[in-house]
Amino acid sequence: MARSQATGAAAAGGMRVLACVVAVSCGVTVVHAADTVAYRLTYPHPGSPHVDVTVSWPDGLPSPGAFVMPRAIPMGYGEQRFDDFVADLRVVAAGTTTAAERVEGPRWRLPAGATSVRYRIDLRRMEHDVRAASDASRVRDGYIGVLGYSVFGYVDGFEGRPIAVTVEGPRDWPVFSTLSPRWPVRAEPVDASAADFYALADSQIVMGPRAVFRRLAERPVALFLASYAEGDVDLDRVGRLVTTAVERVAAYFGEVPFAHYTVHQELLQPLTPRHEYGMSMEHLDSSTYYLAASAGLTSASTAQDEARVLYNFAHHVAHAWLPKRVAGEGYVPFQWELAPVIDTIWFAEGFGQYAAIMALATAMPDPTGFREGMLDRRFRRNLDEAPPFLRTMGLVELSRVASTRYAEDFRTGRLVFSRGGLMAAAIDDRVREQTGGRTSLRDALRGLLAWGARERRGFKVDELAGLLRHETGVDVADVIEAWLRPLPARPSQPLDR
Ligand SMILES: [Zn+2]
Repeated sequence: MARSQATGAAAAGGMRVLACVVAVSCGVTVVHAADTVAYRLTYPHPGSPHVDVTVSWPDGLPSPGAFVMPRAIPMGYGEQRFDDFVADLRVVAAGTTTAAERVEGPRWRLPAGATSVRYRIDLRRMEHDVRAASDASRVRDGYIGVLGYSVFGYVDGFEGRPIAVTVEGPRDWPVFSTLSPRWPVRAEPVDASAADFYALADSQIVMGPRAVFRRLAERPVALFLASYAEGDVDLDRVGRLVTTAVERVAAYFGEVPFAHYTVHQELLQPLTPRHEYGMSMEHLDSSTYYLAASAGLTSASTAQDEARVLYNFAHHVAHAWLPKRVAGEGYVPFQWELAPVIDTIWFAEGFGQYAAIMALATAMPDPTGFREGMLDRRFRRNLDEAPPFLRTMGLVELSRVASTRYAEDFRTGRLVFSRGGLMAAAIDDRVREQTGGRTSLRDALRGLLAWGARERRGFKVDELAGLLRHETGVDVADVIEAWLRPLPARPSQPLDR
């Protein structure tokens, strides 16, 4: 069994992170617990289509168990069958290695006494078969980019255990893990730790001579850019926008509940015409942007392009707070085998985006005009254009529907975040009005983040009004109620703002 000593700062893990970071800043050293699960991911040689993964744990399983590969993606609101790309899964029990038996769902049977599994993941086939670029890892000449949840599985019941992970690449390949960014990026294995399986699964690995790494800032958080481009891109310009987005969003929320943050961007020549590019994804302390090769920000890009890219960064950075550190039920603990049905996507996506809008607005010459313009473009227009059968769904019902097809049928995703964003705006207006501008939604969200760090659970829909009132002294129950109701059937009717 290979075990590594983790070296980096404490890794992030779901809603326990605030507490974890506080502990570190108080000088408490992170020591591996006796139940630590050890992972090793190896990319064996340049040109290989696959990675090898080993998972081992200290004590043999007391009874037969299961090894599980994720199918659901946190905040992906859909499923990908990552178990399809697993090959040659072997289990070690009492010193004997055997092929593990595949059982129903994304599972393999493990015998009593099992102490490790190893398997291979075919990244080339994954990228070919998974057409949404943001859900697939990929291999290129001189480069691999790996999403944790597409390659790492877990022993059923071990999801909450701490993790030590070693990532290893071919000779002379720089290796980078978002769990433990190091500078300069070196051509040697990375040792990192993760608070639990969620933190490991929500991390990324980037390696290879064709990857470009930048260290962008020290404050308000150690900030990194990892890029791979098959088209033109001005990384100086991208780096400035990432830095601005992180600074403004961090200022909005007031506290940064993670020790480092990475933006991972790929600009890709389409694999086939049916492959889709352009979705971005948020993670605990990173975000990923898998774009078409022609979509890169270059020195020729307009101010309008720049504004769009800045907002996209701010939007996904804001998600590191909402919903990654506080959310409704269903986000944490996460259900990996089936996409969870979630009642509050409107909070995660709508309030998260509204926070990004307000974070950027404060630095604009005309904050009110900027806010109104963004609410129109990002939210109100989508309400006007939504098909009647979706408009007339209650917002919780729409959230449940979007839980498994948010991006696949983006009419559901777009409408659920738009209604949530407008609810956030209406709450912000009410709070400002009733407190003479002394308090705003921002204060409520800061309080809600502290609540999330303390409680380490998602809130129920009917708890939200009370939580917000607790932070602001303002009753917004009727505003929430109004926005949870179905929208009027006719798009032309004026809407409650
Ligand atoms: Zn979002």
